[in-house]
Amino acid sequence: ETISDPLPIRRLQETLINRIAAGEVIHRPASALKELLENCLDAGATSIRVTVKDGGLKLLQIQDNGCGIRRADLPILAERFTTSKLTSFSDLSKIATYGFRGEALASMSHVSHLSVVTKTKTETCAWKASYSYGKLVETQPGQTPDPKPCAGNDGTTITIEDLFYNTPTRLSALRSPAEEYSRILDVLTKYAIHNPGVAFICKKAGTAAPDLSTPSSSSTTQAIGMLYGHSIAKELLSTETSSSTEPDTAEFWRAEVHFTNANYQSKKTIFLLFINHRLVESSRMKRALEATYNGVLPKGSFPFIYLSLVLDPRSVDVNVHPTKKEVHFLNEEAISEQIADALLQTLTSKGQSRVFQYQT
Ligand code: ADP
Ligand code: MG
Repeated sequence: ETISDPLPIRRLQETLINRIAAGEVIHRPASALKELLENCLDAGATSIRVTVKDGGLKLLQIQDNGCGIRRADLPILAERFTTSKLTSFSDLSKIATYGFRGEALASMSHVSHLSVVTKTKTETCAWKASYSYGKLVETQPGQTPDPKPCAGNDGTTITIEDLFYNTPTRLSALRSPAEEYSRILDVLTKYAIHNPGVAFICKKAGTAAPDLSTPSSSSTTQAIGMLYGHSIAKELLSTETSSSTEPDTAEFWRAEVHFTNANYQSKKTIFLLFINHRLVESSRMKRALEATYNGVLPKGSFPFIYLSLVLDPRSVDVNVHPTKKEVHFLNEEAISEQIADALLQTLTSKGQSRVFQYQT
């Protein structure tokens, strides 16, 4: 057997590098939506409207009433690593906003047709700009690529068209627009629970009736009732717990949990986890909380649990890629345990008084 000569090492083309990077941030319409939603919330929006065509593959549009984007920033908006949220390395440990790497819009511009209409309070008109491969492109054939003045309200509308048009393998892996649409609704539902002060609307393009609609300024319990149903909302308990350390220390954390009592029994656990206001997954946390229902619920029955955990940013590894859904943080096990204890305590004390009430 002979060893063949090594092949030459070549530098990848930049467009290919960017497309690969984009694929790591944007997996499917729902992951694009998540990034766009977090941008709206970062911008202080109190109203967010989403319009979808073909499960977001043909069109995904998100309109907010947030702070808008300055005209002067539009030329670099879709370049990689351009952000208004992070200026120095020391900021990295204090970061409170959702996104911080300036990668989301850049990624979308590499795998879709991206356009933006935006207006700040101080500007007299809105501006429209379109992007491809990180750069401004003409909005209409024959025009210059610069942003064009147009009519529009304060806030930002981002439109993503033909997602994955240039990555056919990715596109063919997403077979069902209906499935993509239900994932979009799932992400929106969860963010609507976590942001009950923000009005959310989601509809399919060309239809009048929204598939999801929440008012601004409802409570968490009201939002859960509207989105997950009265059968869950009427059995909800809640508790709060936190670290014994002072705020402003790296060990500080606090948690708010809303969860169903023993009267509610589902075939599957519904678990919503937000860490520092970002929707994430943690199978360890889920298992720890589910376990508190052993002996409370019959075998094969499961609860609804919504947990919002705020950690000092220093204890979350920010260098882990922000799209990693499964998160890890300092003292994970001890924190999970304390939250589970608080949940169990409420569950057993409140649960008993409820049963007692029913019996009298
Ligand atoms: P990041 O959120 O990490 O900064 P993005 O690519 O998601 O990166 O966004 C880049 C920048 O574009 C943001 O820092 C913000 O200044 C601006 N931006 C994006 N979406 C909005 C929006 N809906 N409203 C206001 N500004 C926005
Ligand atoms: Mg972002």
